[in-house]
Order: sequence, then structure tokens, then C-alpha cells
Amino acid sequence: MGEGMPADTELRALAATIQSCTDCQLHQARKLAVPGEGPADSAVMFIGEGPGFHENEQGRPFVGAAGRFLEELLASVGLTRQQVFICNVVKCRPPGNRDPLPEETDACAKYLEAQIRIIHPRIIVTLGRFSMARFFPGARISAIHGKARQIGGRTVVAMYHPAAALHQPSLRTTVEADFAVLGPLLQAAAAPPAEPDPAADAKQLSLF
Ligand code: URA
Repeated sequence: MGEGMPADTELRALAATIQSCTDCQLHQARKLAVPGEGPADSAVMFIGEGPGFHENEQGRPFVGAAGRFLEELLASVGLTRQQVFICNVVKCRPPGNRDPLPEETDACAKYLEAQIRIIHPRIIVTLGRFSMARFFPGARISAIHGKARQIGGRTVVAMYHPAAALHQPSLRTTVEADFAVLGPLLQAAAAPPAEPDPAADAKQLSLF
């Protein structure tokens, strides 16, 4: 995919590749792949786990109950879903919403890596343990949620998955409090960018 291509063109071409991908068994039962959506120059990227029933039907991320809660959380820090990039670790629905298998997340990792490279978000928010594991291998979400870390020249924050928070009222309060950390991070992200650190980026991407 094209060096020198405008980012939105490259992102659309990548989405088309994802929509016809057959690299793992998840393509067999999918109705629609869900590449992700949002502006190619988004400062913030949210990474969930994988499409559920509604996402598989519509080909769009976070359009069910968890998505409605995510929109509320975004609004709490002055954001709309149109202003951010929202995607998942795996782009096709695991049957019955089971956990994605290692070979499925591995097969799909190249697409998430490409999205991060093209969009170059200043802030990445992982939603749930599967996307957390891409950035913080071996970490426990209970220990690191809501704490901003610098990885490869960007800020990465692990958060509980909105769907988990919908099922456990105590987690809901935690997720709401964790989202509040995004306010100051967004202000910092509006400041002139720090010099990118290609060496650190390469190290980070090798985690995928
Ligand atoms: N849960 C996710 O992790 N992703 C979606 O797109 C929807 C629900």
C-alpha cells in the first residue's frame, strides 16, 4: 500500500482489503467485516475487541449497546464518534461473540498496525483486555486501567471494555472516571507534536 498516497485514500484502500480478507477462519461466518471508521487524521484511536452481532450486520464498529455507552463516554470529554477513529483488534465477528483466538488476532494484526501507521494517532485507548494485550503484554487490566503511558512517541491508555461496564455497575463508575483522564491528554495532544521516535515505534510494532 502506497507510500505518498494521501492518508484517507490509503485508509480506504486498507478497508477494502479488510472487507475481502480471507486470512483466518473468521471470514467464513461473517456477514460484513468491520475495518473501523473515523478521520484519517484522528488524534485519538479507540481499539475494541471485535465486532459483535450488530457490527457484523452493519459493517461498522461499536453500533450496539456498548457503542451507545462509548458515545456517552466520548461526550463526557467533549468528543463525538465522528472525531475519533474507532476500530477493533479483529475485524470480523468471532462466532457467538467468543474470544478471538491467538491465530485470529495474529492474522489481523497487520491491519491494526497499518491503521496506526497511517493515522498516527497521538493517543490510543485500548478497550478491554485483548487490545490492552497488544500494548501491555502480560499486564492486568485491574492494575493499569486509566493510567497513561508513553509508548513509541504516543500516549496509550488501557480502559475496561464498555460492554463489561454495562454488565457490572461498579465498573461503570471506574470507566467513567478513567475517561476523565482523556481531557488533559486531549489538551496536550492539541499542542505541537513531539518529534516522532521511529526506533521506539519499531520496537512497539514488534509487539504485535
Ligand atoms: N465490542 C467491541 O469490542 N467492538 C465492537 O465493535 C462492538 C462491541
